[in-house]
Amino acid sequence: MVSYDEKHRYEIARQTMLNQHLASRDIHDARVLEAMGSVPREAFVPEKYASQSYDDNPLPIGLGQTISQPYMVAFMTQALKLTGNEEVLEIGTGSGYQTAILAELASKIYTIERFNQLGESAQAILGRLGYENIEFYIGDGSCGWPENKEFDRIIVTASVPEIPTPLTNQLKEGGLLAAPVGGPWSQELIVAEKKEGKVEPKILCGCRFVKLIGKHGFTE
Ligand code: SAM
Repeated sequence: MVSYDEKHRYEIARQTMLNQHLASRDIHDARVLEAMGSVPREAFVPEKYASQSYDDNPLPIGLGQTISQPYMVAFMTQALKLTGNEEVLEIGTGSGYQTAILAELASKIYTIERFNQLGESAQAILGRLGYENIEFYIGDGSCGWPENKEFDRIIVTASVPEIPTPLTNQLKEGGLLAAPVGGPWSQELIVAEKKEGKVEPKILCGCRFVKLIGKHGFTE
């Protein structure tokens, strides 16, 4: 249970993060800033790191995985140009923090996590926070959503050697996909639009993510 004082301290820290690390850099989408200013990141961070919740860093969440840096969460979300009506596929639920930001900004989120433990923990946290527009699946997200379905947006939150074909197949015409693409130690963040059945990637910046382990990702 978070006390009133603690809640207030976190709110101040969240505002500071918003001003220092997001708005003063290149995060300008007002809806993204509003979502980043309202989702309590401390709820997704293991207790021993709670005091670092609003530092602009990734943090360990167990099983060798991380909750992404707030700036990167905001930057990738902004690249998806969400208006509120989209169905979004997220590969790599992790802590569930990025899922919450997406759930604030789109109509429905479908999220896949490889580790049962992380997927279940994220589902419990997001349930406690009251999100009702999220479907969860445990499995290999490099193979896409297990049902035959197309999405307006796809976000991959772990690195891939190349964009997995099952994901481009599940992207709607005119849809956008964001992913870190490259080697295991460093990647380029790309955003790709699907046009006439093909995706056209545009490089946004360099980045470093944990590996997507799966049939169309890296081997362990
Ligand atoms: N966005 C998340 C957050 O805010 O906490 C962080 C995601 S973390 C950088 C990457 C996640 O991708 C990890 O939880 C990892 O277990 C997951 N992952 C790796 N390979 C996967 C796969 N093939 N399918 C689904 N999830 C996978």
